[in-house]
Amino acid sequence: MKEKGLNLLRNILRKTILPLRKKREEWLSNFRFSMAFRISLAYLRLMLTHGVLFFAGFFVIFMFNAKADYDLLAEDMMDMLSAGNLTAIENPYHDQGVTMKVEGSHTHQVIYDDAAYRQSTSKDFIFGIHYERENRIFIYEDTRKLTVGDGEYLVTFQYDMADSYIRFLSLAWKLLLLYLIIVALIIRKGKRSDTKLFEPVRIMSAQANRLTVNNLNSERINVEGTKNELKDLANVINAMLDRIETSYESQKQFVSDASHELRTPIAVIQGYVNMLDRWGSSNQEVLQESIEAIKNEAKSMQDLVEKLLFLSRHDKKTLKLVKKRFNMRPLVEDMVKETRLVAPNRVIKNPVMEDVIVYGDKQALKQAIRIFIDNAVKYTKDGDEITILCQKINEDCVITVSDTGIGMTKKDIDNIFNRFYRSEHVRNQNIGGHGLGLSLAKLIILAHTGRIKIRSQFKKGSSFIITLPKRRF
Ligand code: ADP
Repeated sequence: MKEKGLNLLRNILRKTILPLRKKREEWLSNFRFSMAFRISLAYLRLMLTHGVLFFAGFFVIFMFNAKADYDLLAEDMMDMLSAGNLTAIENPYHDQGVTMKVEGSHTHQVIYDDAAYRQSTSKDFIFGIHYERENRIFIYEDTRKLTVGDGEYLVTFQYDMADSYIRFLSLAWKLLLLYLIIVALIIRKGKRSDTKLFEPVRIMSAQANRLTVNNLNSERINVEGTKNELKDLANVINAMLDRIETSYESQKQFVSDASHELRTPIAVIQGYVNMLDRWGSSNQEVLQESIEAIKNEAKSMQDLVEKLLFLSRHDKKTLKLVKKRFNMRPLVEDMVKETRLVAPNRVIKNPVMEDVIVYGDKQALKQAIRIFIDNAVKYTKDGDEITILCQKINEDCVITVSDTGIGMTKKDIDNIFNRFYRSEHVRNQNIGGHGLGLSLAKLIILAHTGRIKIRSQFKKGSSFIITLPKRRF
């Protein structure tokens, strides 16, 4: 039953108040009110609704206060009645609005009754206060027991609270006026402090408006002076701007490094083409040298562009790996054979070659391992040793590429995976390369949840240990 009633109420609300509220929101959305205004409006509404509560409470307190005054008179009368002669009763407070009726407790025979005694017509209003509709006045009725000698009586007092009510009304009007003045003052003041409160938001949006890629590094939202949620918001936005700036700077650096790397082979090709142009193609020696150089530079450029493409696909997340299960051993063995062919002057050793099944993209992994082996060849000289191992350790595949070449300093080890990084001694020795190989190899190994460990000693040699974990699912 109760459930039914609640459901009915819910349905009525859903069909009446909610659509109305929606309509009001829709209508309000046509206007662009500031947040400060809407907050002020909400507080104003709260103040007005609570104002009604305040006046209702004030009315009750006022009337009870007035009733307490009458109670003192009634008490006085009771004392007089119990002390005096009941046949000669007089009500000295009649003129003050107190009426009295005395009747026998059992017989209900009226002994005394003020002429002005009223019968209240409406129900009990609140704690004995009645509202008499006819005369539109409030009456308080109180019945007390009186014992005089052997007789028991009922004494009914009625207080005419019209005077109190009139006093209440006149006070209430004044209070209402005062209340409205205070509300007006609060609105005025509140508007000012709301504007102050939202000042950081205004500054934030102005600053965000000024933000461009050119001032990304200098423009930050000022959080001085604010110590609230807006400060947290500003800090979050500033941290986001820092991240965007770092990413933007690294993109810029990448483009600049890539253009720089491409400039060298283009300049070399241009140089040889100019030379051919000037000396003609009849000079066999010049012709041969030019063809060789142009071929090398074109190859280097192709290599660079392919690496750049690979990295950009990775950054754009369009790189697709086709993973399958395969044995790593034959793959590494093939690479060892190829290396022996292309670098006959290095001592290539492969003392341990174990069968180990790997789940991954065969071509991509081959590309990554080739980078380590090519580097080992590149950064060693004739007669140096290169050791390549393929091992199965704790079910994982571990590939080691070690060399007795030029080695690396601590600074190099910390930076070799950064794009375009090349150690200083490598640059000075004019060894070809773009500093992209290891960053690319790292991407591939990480995409296979693998890891790379480096051991190196400057001028003594380096070891790269690549671990590809066994697929555990
Ligand atoms: P590149 O070889 O084209 O310069 P990489 O990214 O492959 O680019 O290598 C980055 C740098 O790491 C190299 O320039 C070199 O300084 C250093 N490096 C890589 N492999 C070795 C190695 N086996 N021995 C010594 N230094 C190496």
